[in-house]
Order: sequence, then structure tokens, then C-alpha cells
Amino acid sequence: MQHKLQVEAIQHGSVIDHIPVQQGVKIIRFFNLTQTDEKITIGLNLATHTGQQKDLIKVENTFISDEQANQLALFAPRATINQIKNFKVVHKFQVQLPDSFIGVLACPNSNCISHHEPVDTRFYVKKKSTLKLKCHYCEKTFDHSFFRELD
Ligand SMILES: [Zn+2]
Repeated sequence: MQHKLQVEAIQHGSVIDHIPVQQGVKIIRFFNLTQTDEKITIGLNLATHTGQQKDLIKVENTFISDEQANQLALFAPRATINQIKNFKVVHKFQVQLPDSFIGVLACPNSNCISHHEPVDTRFYVKKKSTLKLKCHYCEKTFDHSFFRELD
């Protein structure tokens, strides 16, 4: 019941739900959500009906595309996106791990050419279960925990 209220509490925009705890702040940073004038509400360590905790982000007047949503899968593989118009959920979908991440992550290998050339970083998802990503440029494979957002 509480979940329903949280989701419906905005008039227009997107609600990113079912974010693992501690990932909400990362997602805000990662998607430059702080660089918007729209109202953003972030809920941390909210209780779910299963007794676990989750983070939740509401962004008003912004509709997150499927492509953007899929980039979230790195931090929140089971997140759901609710798109809301006039207080009603008009579209709800779960993020899908994309085949590649382009231009959003920095290569953990400091010798990688992607740090020195004006290229978009590019990583291929090698193993969906454990989230290992392979760099297009240095061809090294890294666990997702080694990644950080681009500066
Ligand atoms: Zn690399």
C-alpha cells in the first residue's frame, strides 16, 4: 500500500523503483540527475512489503527512455521504471541489461587508450549473471564493481 502511494505521488515524470540500497545516490550521480532543474525526490532505505529495503528515485517532468533505463541495470538490475502522467502510471517496465555500455563508464585500466584519445568508451557485457564487462579498446574484462562513471 505504501509502495503505491510513493509511486503515485508525482503528477508527471518517472519513478525508478526497486533500486538496491546504497545504489540510489550512485544513480543520481551517474545520470547527472543533479544537473536538472526538475524536482527530484530520493528515498533511501525504504521498507518493501517483503521486509527488505530499497531506494527509490522520482524525477518530475522527465521520461526516462528504455535505453537510459537499461544503463541503470549496472547498478539496479531489477529496477522498474514507472512513467507517470496526470498521477497515473501509463507505462511500467523493468530494466534490461544492455549488450553494451557506450560513453558512460570509465575503463578501470588506467593504461587504456580510451583515457588518452577522444573516443567514447565502450564495454560489452560478457557475462550477464555476474556482470563482467569487456573493454572495446584494451580488450580487458572487468567485474562491474571496478567501474566508475566518467569524469
Ligand atoms: Zn579499456
